[in-house]
Amino acid sequence: MDDKMTAVLYSSEQPSEKDLERLSVFLADKYKKPVSIGWKKSEKTTGGFRLVAGGDVYDWSAEGKLRQLQDALLKLRSERTDIIPLIKDTLSSWTPSVMATEIGTVTTVGDGIATVSGLEDTSYGEILLFTGGVRGMALDLRRDEIACILFDTEEEVCEGSTVKRTGRVAAVPVGEGFLGRVVDPLGVPIDGGDEIIADDYRPVESEAPAVIDRQAVNTPLETGILAIDSMFPIGRGQRELIIGDRQTGKSSIITDTIINQKGKDVICIYVAIGQKSSTIARVVDTLTKCGAMEYTIVVNASAADSAPLQYIAPYAGCAMGEYFMEKGRDVLIVYDDLTKHAIAYRSISLLLERAPGREAFPGDVFYLHSRLLERAAHLCDEKGGGSITALPVIETQEEDVSSYIPTNVISITDGQIFLSSGLFRLGQRPAINVGLSVSRVGGDAQTKAMKKAVGTLRLDLAQYREMETFSQFSGDMDEATKKQIRYGEGLMKILKQKPKSPRSLVQQVFMLVIATMDKFETIETEDIDVKIDEIVHDTMARCQDIVLKIENEGTISDEDKQRILDTVRGLHE
Ligand code: ATP
Ligand code: MG
Repeated sequence: MDDKMTAVLYSSEQPSEKDLERLSVFLADKYKKPVSIGWKKSEKTTGGFRLVAGGDVYDWSAEGKLRQLQDALLKLRSERTDIIPLIKDTLSSWTPSVMATEIGTVTTVGDGIATVSGLEDTSYGEILLFTGGVRGMALDLRRDEIACILFDTEEEVCEGSTVKRTGRVAAVPVGEGFLGRVVDPLGVPIDGGDEIIADDYRPVESEAPAVIDRQAVNTPLETGILAIDSMFPIGRGQRELIIGDRQTGKSSIITDTIINQKGKDVICIYVAIGQKSSTIARVVDTLTKCGAMEYTIVVNASAADSAPLQYIAPYAGCAMGEYFMEKGRDVLIVYDDLTKHAIAYRSISLLLERAPGREAFPGDVFYLHSRLLERAAHLCDEKGGGSITALPVIETQEEDVSSYIPTNVISITDGQIFLSSGLFRLGQRPAINVGLSVSRVGGDAQTKAMKKAVGTLRLDLAQYREMETFSQFSGDMDEATKKQIRYGEGLMKILKQKPKSPRSLVQQVFMLVIATMDKFETIETEDIDVKIDEIVHDTMARCQDIVLKIENEGTISDEDKQRILDTVRGLHE
């Protein structure tokens, strides 16, 4: 045990020798050992001082005096003595009393990070209150101090100011009232609308559902994008990564998917991390115009927000989603994008002086994303059967999927949709690279009709790609090869799709049946990407019974397929 103790006195003016002497006598008496007192200037401690000794804080600043007075007045209520002398008395005499032990002192502050001493019992992730109502969260518990991130501007916080424990971990308000709103990661509306009445509060970080509480992915989550729904189907409860260079249509895929959930009873949460506010305003505008905002919550931590806010944004969005999932609802959550999230976390941890590893990311960056994406789940029926489907976005540099963050997230998700800038430049949009994309679980969730219509589409496209390269070298090709190339070209064209124009399941099935059955033998391929929608529309009008069958039963027979083919060919004669 130490036989000498050190204490720190914070005040705006230097204390006299006599004052220090008096205080050290008091402390020595109290702690039964000699105490040396150091002095630190603190502009915020006006009209008195704050004395920190061991884990105790003696507050005799203006604020502390008021608190003491308040305590005295509260006692007074029961005793009913004369009030004026009491006020004089309490304000002039310092009764040394330890403040609630839950108060600490800021030792350093800067760059959105503050270190605090005197709060030994704080738990990881606990919310701390600084002067001026500034909120912080404990992230680093060290031997005799803790480091926390600040969610608000740090102007009010300075060395020596007080910090209160709240005993609560970071939580966000959740509820139905958030639908249709744009909020910050702490649930505060930023769309200029009314205050939101929360139904509940949920911790930002919570444990993922256990294996026992889950069931297999078995219901499709349709994106409305033919290339995805046919070859890389996504199921409710799945985690599918969207990865590609900048400006390759990543966000467009996400917004289209949200738009396509209209009338499908899926709640959508768009978490924007480190993006320009103007970009988000555009997304919100698009969603509003398409009538998709009604069932969507936008959580925005823009590029201008602090790294701590960007860091908690996806967890906060996920907590909002879990509220609905536990009520048995289906939720789609998109994180746009996790590269910027990892960068925000990197800056926090470098400021916290954690040892950097590969590409200067901290060692636990894998855990950062795995604990987030593990919260996506399809709950079993006993738990209500709700689901969270997660579509994280990762931005690559020069299509390098083997760098640190992309490899991490690829390994955590159930597949990826790889967007290629080369295809995007050639006008093949959405620029999905069929060879590198995969969906590992969604196939089980695909409807029978879709499975049947897709047939060997992926294989056909792979063959086409090979032949296409080959045909660049040899001039004359045999008839079969020419046919194969023509078929491939046609397929690539019908996989093109404009943003904001999702296709329904029936449209997609018809489109695939037409393409794979006819193989573009009677249908012209020249401007098929423009004409296909019209052809499908006309065919559907003539095969209403098949349309109904797909819609109601989700199946299609070989005879139906043949009939669709005959109808299309009939249209062209
Ligand atoms: P960033 O890296 O900046 O976030 P991003 O990868 O999210 O970009 P988007 O913003 O979705 O890309 O799209 C970039 C541009 O490409 C937009 O102008 C969008 O309109 C256009 N675009 C996206 N998808 C398609 C498509 N299927 N057809 C035509 N244009 C598209
Ligand atoms: Mg984007």
